[in-house]
Amino acid sequence: MSATVYFASVAFDRIDPDATLPARFVRVLERYPLTDMVKGRRVAVKMHLGGNLGYSTIPPLFVRLLIQKLKDAGGEVFVTDVPWATTEAVARGYTAEVLGAPILPATGRADRYFYRVPVEYKSLREIQVAGEIRDSEVLIDLSHVKGHGACGYGGACKNLAMGCVTAATRSQIHALQGGLTWQEELCTHCESCLEACRYGANGFDEQGTYRIDYEACHYCQHCANACPEGAIAIDAEAFADFQEGMALSTRAVLSSFEPGRVLFINFLLHMTYLCDCWGLTTPALLPDIGLVVSDDIVAIEQASLDLIRVEDLIWQGLPKGKRIGSEGHLFQRIHGKDPFVQVRALERYGLGTREYKLVEVQ
Ligand code: SF4
Ligand code: SF4
Repeated sequence: MSATVYFASVAFDRIDPDATLPARFVRVLERYPLTDMVKGRRVAVKMHLGGNLGYSTIPPLFVRLLIQKLKDAGGEVFVTDVPWATTEAVARGYTAEVLGAPILPATGRADRYFYRVPVEYKSLREIQVAGEIRDSEVLIDLSHVKGHGACGYGGACKNLAMGCVTAATRSQIHALQGGLTWQEELCTHCESCLEACRYGANGFDEQGTYRIDYEACHYCQHCANACPEGAIAIDAEAFADFQEGMALSTRAVLSSFEPGRVLFINFLLHMTYLCDCWGLTTPALLPDIGLVVSDDIVAIEQASLDLIRVEDLIWQGLPKGKRIGSEGHLFQRIHGKDPFVQVRALERYGLGTREYKLVEVQ
């Protein structure tokens, strides 16, 4: 059975506030039985509040409209993110007064308020799920769509997997990044591998140890092929470990919510090269598209990626001289990681379906 994904476009046909995205957003929300969903319940709105000089997170107006709707429906609403982002949120205009709801650190001020969910995947043994999320009865996963160096794409999955857990779990998921091995005893330090890397992703540290920047690596294998000594090897399975870890973390975060108590909202506005956690904003990679809403995380991620077309790339959104690949989704060409890996993993874990019906709301 396919899932429904509601779509509101930024395209407009007349000069009228009612024909613009905020008004459409409200009409999309009205498609859901919000009173049944939230009345008398504690509702967490998880968003990425950004940091430092970033200005491309979801505009406060949309968050305020959402919170008003949830409060009108009888929910006890709060906004939440990782602790450091909540303390910096005011710089992007997110305050309790503006949004209409308090802003709480998801894992507590000291990042020590969490519940352990056991998992077994490579070096990952548990997910430390944020206490404020676990204590809530309804979750709104409010995400800004953008590129991501480690998984190609950041949206609904990334917002939960990396934003509803402790810093310790985040670093354990990052520690899954890998796929290249180097054998020191074979290496002659000829540097052919460095010349072969068109992405500047490899190098030697001061001790002469080979290092890979996995955020920049495209897994193109040129370094391995260029090595005359066979010192570099690629483990194709390990490329996707980070994305698998994100899917597992997402499953752990969602595991405490009853069916019908989670809503996913993806904003496809000012989509940038890198994640909001970099604390900066670069020019948009793509023209603004609009927003999508669904109660199915797999469907909303698939639909968001499907709305992004290679031919719409705005080169100004990439660093000058940045080269991109020629295969796959635009985010795969830019970051070298197939963004559908995590979507397929979410589906495999039973969190939804990639089959969806896109319903446009005017
Ligand atoms: S796999 Fe490709 S991108 Fe990654 S370090 Fe090797 S040459 Fe560079
Ligand atoms: S190409 Fe091979 S031998 Fe040469 S520096 Fe790189 S890893 Fe070492």
